[in-house]
Amino acid sequence: MLISSLRFLPFFHFHPVFMLVSLLLYFLPAFLARKRSDFTAIFVLNLLAGWTVIGWIVALVWALSSGQQRQVAVPAQPAAPPQPAFKASFFCSACGKSCEAGARFCSSCGAALPAASR
Ligand SMILES: [Zn+2]
Repeated sequence: MLISSLRFLPFFHFHPVFMLVSLLLYFLPAFLARKRSDFTAIFVLNLLAGWTVIGWIVALVWALSSGQQRQVAVPAQPAAPPQPAFKASFFCSACGKSCEAGARFCSSCGAALPAASR
């Protein structure tokens, strides 16, 4: 990196490719933060304080670190809603024991189950 940039040193103010590369490198923190809600703050810091090397590093660290925190902060949605155990079955009106939902007669007392329960 250092050696390759030293090759461009005589063309520092003249070479358009080096100017373009250094401009892209200068706005690298803002580019990394382009999809975030705090992009404007990072971009302003990058633009105003990026010429000081410390401001550029702060903007780069901010662009990288805040994005990871935001990904962690997103609450994970449950893959499937929890199903209650008693939903598949109901209680017999004669004996009060739980029966399977598709059953025609109670498995405990043999009483005919109401059609509405099925
Ligand atoms: Zn029963």
